[in-house]
Amino acid sequence: MSKVFFWNLRASRKMPFDLRIKKLLKKLELGAMLDPGMLTAVKIHFGEGGTTGFISPLWIKPIVEFVKKAGARPFLTDTNTLYIGNRGEAVSHHLQAAIHGFDPNILGAPVIIADGLKSRNERKINYQGKTLREFYLAGDIVDCDFLVNVSHFKGHELAGFGGALKNLAMGCATRQGKMHQHCGLGPKVDLKNCRGCGMCVEICAPGALVLDDGKVKLDLEKCVGCASCFLSCKTGCLQINWTTEIKEFLERMTEYAGAVLNLKKKLCVHINYVFNVTPDCDCPGFSDAPVCPDIGVLASTDPVAIDQACLDLVDRAQPLFPSKLPGHAKAGDDKFGLIHPGTSGRYCLEYSARLGLGSREYELVNV
Ligand code: SF4
Ligand code: SF4
Repeated sequence: MSKVFFWNLRASRKMPFDLRIKKLLKKLELGAMLDPGMLTAVKIHFGEGGTTGFISPLWIKPIVEFVKKAGARPFLTDTNTLYIGNRGEAVSHHLQAAIHGFDPNILGAPVIIADGLKSRNERKINYQGKTLREFYLAGDIVDCDFLVNVSHFKGHELAGFGGALKNLAMGCATRQGKMHQHCGLGPKVDLKNCRGCGMCVEICAPGALVLDDGKVKLDLEKCVGCASCFLSCKTGCLQINWTTEIKEFLERMTEYAGAVLNLKKKLCVHINYVFNVTPDCDCPGFSDAPVCPDIGVLASTDPVAIDQACLDLVDRAQPLFPSKLPGHAKAGDDKFGLIHPGTSGRYCLEYSARLGLGSREYELVNV
C-alpha cells in the first residue's frame, strides 16, 4: 500500500496555501531526495492559449522555492505538442508560457522546453514494455537529475483522465514519441453533419484532412492519430473509433510512463492538483465548467496510487451543474466515464499496476 499525502485546501492566516504545499512536500520527504546542485525538472503543462484550467504559476512557486531551499536547481518544463496550437515548437511554447505568467523573474526558475526548438532534442530509450521496446523521450527529461511531476487532474477525451501517469507518458515524449503512443487512433468520420467549415483541416498538422466538394475527407495513410481534430468539430463528424484502438493506445501510453519511471527510478515525485476539474484536457484551447468542487492537492512517490486516489475522490464528490455531466449524474458515479463513454482511465491504472509501475492500494494521509 502506498502513501498519498493530501491537503484538502483548508487554509488560515497562519497556514496559507504556500506553507500548506511546502508542508505536503516535507511529508513526502522531498528535501531528503534532493542533493545540492541537482538540475530538477518541474514538469508542468503551461496551458494552451484560451485555456484557463491549467495550474497557475502561483501554485507552482512554493514547489520551486522548496526545491531551491534544498539546494537543487529547478527549471519549469514541458514538451512540444503534436497538434498545431501555441505550443507546437519552442518559440511559441515559451511565449505561451509567458502569457500565462510563467515568468522566471517571478518564479525564480527558467522555462526550458525539454525537447528543444523543433522537438529534435530526443533520446531513444530502451525499456521492456509488453508491446513496445523503444521509446522517444525529450532529451532534457532524460538528462535532468530529478523529476517533479506536477499535474492538473482532470478528464481527458482519449485517456479518460489526465494525471500523473499521462503527464509522464505523453508529457515527457517528443512529438515522435507522442505519435508512437497515438498510433492507430484515427478518427471515425461521419459526414452527415459536415458543414465544410474547415476547422479540423486547419488543426490537422500532417494534412490528413482535406476539404473535398464541401465535405471533409480523411487520408488514413497520413493520419498519426493525434486526436486533435476530435474536439475541433462542433457537429460531431469526427469521433474516436473506440472499438478497436483505445485499449492499445492506453497500453502504449502506460508503457511510456513506465519508460520514464524506469529511467528516473527513485528520482521522481508526483504532485496532483485536483481543482478546476474540467471534463477535457488543457490542450483544446478552452476550459469547460468543472464537473465537481475543488478537492485538494495530493503528493506521492507512487504515480499509480496518486492517480487512483484522485479518481476516487473525484468520483465520490458531488457533481456540479451546469457541466458536461448528464443531468442524472450523482456522487459515486464514474464521472469521466459518463462524459467520455468508451474511454477507461481505470484500465490505464489496472495496466500500470500490472506493469509494476505502482500500487492501486493507497493510504490517504491528511496533511
Ligand atoms: S470541423 Fe467538422 S464540420 Fe467542419 S469541416 Fe471538419 S468535419 Fe466538417
Ligand atoms: S486526422 Fe489524424 S492526424 Fe489529423 S488531427 Fe485527426 S487524428 Fe490527428
